[in-house]
This record gives sequence, structure tokens and C-alpha cells, in this order.
Amino acid sequence: MGGPGGPALPFAGNRKNRSEWTMDIEILTFGDNYIYLCRTADGVAFVVDPGQAAAVLAALKARGGRLTHVLLTHHHGDHTGGAARLREQTDCHVVGGDRVEVPVIDTVAAGGEEFAIGGVQVRTIATPGHTCDSVCYFLPAQPGNPTPMVFTGDTLFVGGCGRVFECDAGTMWRSLNDLAALPEETRVYCGHEYTVENYHFATKFFPRDAEYACKLAEAQAAVRAGRPMIPSTIAAEKRANVFLRAGSVESFAHLRGLKDRF
Ligand SMILES: [Zn+2]
Repeated sequence: MGGPGGPALPFAGNRKNRSEWTMDIEILTFGDNYIYLCRTADGVAFVVDPGQAAAVLAALKARGGRLTHVLLTHHHGDHTGGAARLREQTDCHVVGGDRVEVPVIDTVAAGGEEFAIGGVQVRTIATPGHTCDSVCYFLPAQPGNPTPMVFTGDTLFVGGCGRVFECDAGTMWRSLNDLAALPEETRVYCGHEYTVENYHFATKFFPRDAEYACKLAEAQAAVRAGRPMIPSTIAAEKRANVFLRAGSVESFAHLRGLKDRF
């Protein structure tokens, strides 16, 4: 496939043969939400947190890819709103944490499941806290995906974390630490663009921390240039995420409370 004489892969702009192909991630936005449309070497596409279907369908039409999977990180409507329409129009398979809240889910992910999409291995990680059904999707380093990546929904943001709506602070703290234990080079793709606000918070409460000040300047420059701050890495978050650096569940709960009122 895709080599000299073989059929072209169904993606505009692909000039690589299959063995050199690395997974393509298209970042779609609506409001401050991120939708991730990923295409593998096998011409297969999957989408993470399609809060709306229209942008995903337009991107598939414009740039190709056969949508086989929708991955949902949690049940909130701004992450799941497009799932039913995508399933209807493409017959894709929907994976997510709570079939009661999101009836269109085909496979319930409770954490620890492993499956392949277009030859790319995916592992689910249960990360309750923001909601009880929160789950992250981890893709380890493998052929076609040399750098590991994780889709973190509203659990871990760049420089921040989600509000603790349905669980207690201890549960969220454990989930964040499970993510922090992933390989340092893992790329982090989160559910919203809250980066500047997150570093504003960190610099307000830790005004002498050079790491936070530097990240705030970097994020503000990215906004000016119209560039998303995605992806981050686990290493960067361990260095400059005020919640991952909390050090204890008590300190985490205190900081989360301050941020809720910020
Ligand atoms: Zn949410």
C-alpha cells in the first residue's frame, strides 16, 4: 500500500510509503474544545471527543480517512455531542465510559482494555475525578506511532486539570498520578484550550516560580500567533503543572478549591 505502484493512501498530502508513515493527528476546534481526528497508515481514522459531528465529517470529506472508531473520554455533551451522528453516517464503533449517559456507546471502557485501530494499539486508563466515567486513551510507542501519546479529555490539561465534579479530590489526585507515571516523552492531547488561564493561576499563587512564568509567556506568545499549545508532554506537565506538583492530596484539594474560585 502506498509504495511505488501501489494504490495511493486515501489522504491528501501523503507522500510516504507505508513503513515510513506516522499517525497523522488533525486538531479540530469548536469554542475552546479540541477534537482530535487521527489517521493511521491503513487509511483508518478515529476521532477523540467529537463534541460536534459537522467539523469531523467535513475534515473526512476534505482530507480522507475511513472513520472506524469514536473514543469518548467522558459523558459531557461538549465531548460526545457528535457521536450519534458520526455513528449513523459512518457505522463507526463508539467507545466510552458510561452507556447510561451516552447510549450510543458500543463498548464500555472501564480502564485496562486494549484494542487496535488500523493496526495502532490503544490502551484505556480509568481516570475518575472530573466525572466517574472519565477514561484516557494511551497509545504506546509502536510502528506508525514512534512517540507515545495520551488523550486526556478533561482530566489533565496543559498546566491544569479538570474540575472535580463527580468524585472526591483523592480520586482525582490518584488519576493524575496514574497519568504522571506514563513515559516522560508521552505527548498529551487534552480536551480544552485553558492553557493561559491555567498559568495565570499558577503565577498568581507561585509568583516566584520561574517555570510557571516562562510557561505563561510561552502560552501568551502561542495565542498571539494563533498556535495551539497542544500537545504538551508528561515531562512538561510534571515540571510546570501546578496540580501535578501539589505533592499531597491535601495540597491538591486546596489548590483545586482555589482554582474553582479563581
Ligand atoms: Zn467535562
